[in-house]
Order: sequence, then C-alpha cells, then structure tokens
Amino acid sequence: MFPAQIEEYVRPTTVAEALAVNARYDEGDALFIAGGQSLMQALKSRMARPRCLIDLQAIDALKGIEYSDGVRIGAMTRYVDIAADERLRGRNAALRDAAAHVGDRQVRNRGTIGGSCCWNYLASCTPAVVLGLGGRMHLVAADGTRRVVPATEFLIGPLETARRADELLEAVSFAGATDRGGSAYRKWGLVKDALPVVGVCVCVELDAAGRCSAASIALSGLAAGAQLAPAGAALLVGSSGDATTLARAMDAVAAAVEAQSDKWASTAYRQQLIRTLGADVAATAFARATA
Ligand SMILES: Cc1cc2nc3c(=O)[nH]c(=O)nc-3n(C[C@H](O)[C@H](O)[C@H](O)COP(=O)(O)OP(=O)(O)OC[C@H]3O[C@@H](n4cnc5c(N)ncnc54)[C@H](O)[C@@H]3O)c2cc1C
Repeated sequence: MFPAQIEEYVRPTTVAEALAVNARYDEGDALFIAGGQSLMQALKSRMARPRCLIDLQAIDALKGIEYSDGVRIGAMTRYVDIAADERLRGRNAALRDAAAHVGDRQVRNRGTIGGSCCWNYLASCTPAVVLGLGGRMHLVAADGTRRVVPATEFLIGPLETARRADELLEAVSFAGATDRGGSAYRKWGLVKDALPVVGVCVCVELDAAGRCSAASIALSGLAAGAQLAPAGAALLVGSSGDATTLARAMDAVAAAVEAQSDKWASTAYRQQLIRTLGADVAATAFARATA
C-alpha cells in the first residue's frame, strides 16, 4: 500500500519551528517523523493519515548524548550512536545492549530513542530499557512549557504515551554512572536482531559489601507492553547475585507477569525465556556492577 496524500512536508531546524508548524494543525493532522522506522509502516498501511509531516532530522539540538550529573540523550539520537558510546556503562550499559541489536543495520542507522519511546510498541526494546533504568522524559510544548515525566508515567501501554499532541519529546535522561551500578538487556527473537518475543532488562546497585541495595527488572515482548517486574526485583535486594537468588527472582517474574500465547511462542515458552534469559541478564548486570 501507499500512504494517503500528505499536503505538507516540513524540515525545520529548530524545536520552536517544529512546534509552531504542529500547532497549526488539529490533533493527529500533523505528525513528527524521526527515523521513520515505525511511522513509515503506519503511513503505508494508512493506520496513520496525517495531512502534514514534520521531519525532525535537521534539528541538531535534539541529537547527541550529554554527560553532567546524569546522562541526557537527545530524542533524535540514533541507535547506532547509542550503541557506539562507550561512556554508557555500569548502570546505563543496558542502553547499549539494546541499541546494538535493534532490528537490522538500516533500522539502527535511522531509528531513534525518542521515536521508539513515543511509538511505544509492545515488543520494542527501548521502552523496556528506559523503564528499567528509571528514565525521565523531557517534553516541550508550543508555548515553551517544559515538563519532565518519569518513564513509568509516560509509557502508558502499547502505542500509548502521556505525550500531549502539542508536545515534542526533547530528550530522555538517566542517573549517571555510579561506582557499583550495573545493568544489562537481552532479547530473544525468532531471527537474530528481530523484535523480541521476550526481552529482559536488569539494573542493580550494590553496596560496599557487594550486596544489592536496589534493583529493577523490566520486560519487553509481552502483550501489555513494556513493564516493570517489581516482585522479582525485590528478591534481588540483599543478595550478591548468586545463581539461586537469580533463579528465584526470575521464577517470581515469570509467575507474576501475564505472558501471552501467540503464533511466535506459547505462554510456557515465554515464561521459560524469562527464567533462562532473565537469569543470564541479571548475572551480567551484577558482574558489570563489580567490574
Ligand atoms: C525491520 C524492523 C525491525 C525492528 N526491530 C526492532 C527491534 O528489534 N527492537 C526494537 O526495539 N525496535 C525495533 N524496530 C522498531 C524501531 O525501533 C523503530 O525505530 C522505532 O520504533 C521508532 O523510532 P523512529 O525514530 O524510527 O520513529 P518514527 O517511526 O519516525 O516515529 C515513531 C512515532 O514517534 C513519534 N515521534 C518521533 N519522534 C518524536 C519526538 N521527538 N517527539 C514526539 N513524537 C515523536 C512520531 O510522530 C511517530 O508517531 C524495528 C523496526 C523495523 C522496521
């Protein structure tokens, strides 16, 4: 199929220009396009039929990774650039794990962290990692109003976010690297680097004695979309990441989440993936925290 006719295509160079064009249209009639790796499919299938496309590619202010107290990743930063940034380590290493295996090379060369979060597809890796690392979403509206929304509130459910129609996502931020923080993400798909049947992100902070003082576990690939698994994470706290504890924590995750059965995998298969993949991912997160 081909997209419905688009009346206006603009390629602004500033956020203010992009928002001003967006404000001229009724809700849904203008859409931002980032890497186009999800939106183009929606346009071709006519699931989305905007009158105007606002291409964000030429807005340099939305690109790049800044390090100060924490880490701020511009919404238009591509997967390929996230995967290549070796400063994303320790508690933020899962961002690189995910970005390095999103789709194929073309998807990684064009797809962006902002586009993935705003689309919030149920099987996407990035929303799960952003949740697992306690990401914060930086939004700006046409009147210049800015707000910062925790990922837990921003990512409402599959294809649904807390972004208002007059807002643009400027950046996603994370806490900075700590001395004893570690995270990891891995997915399992039917073919290498495909959308995950299940993906698991684990983030841990250790105390001086090497015991886990805080943990989070997030999942991708489930019908309800990217989600945290607090029951499993609680079991990691106080442990030093021994195999028995990791297995017990992932058992708890597999038992607590609703894993669907579909043409790609049964419920039991997904639960088993959570257990095996999850224990490996957790072991990597603990190892990175002590590296
Ligand atoms: C073959 C293939 C394989 C893939 N495999 C994977 C995979 O393994 N893992 C995975 O996680 N994903 C995968 N994806 C999806 C990919 O991650 C997409 O890049 C991502 O979902 C969308 O990012 P984008 O930059 O292309 O956004 P676009 O498609 O351009 O935009 C997506 C949506 O976000 C909105 N938007 C974009 N940027 C902003 C902004 N700054 N502010 C407000 N709204 C904005 C757009 O209006 C649109 O509604 C795959 C895609 C393809 C085509």
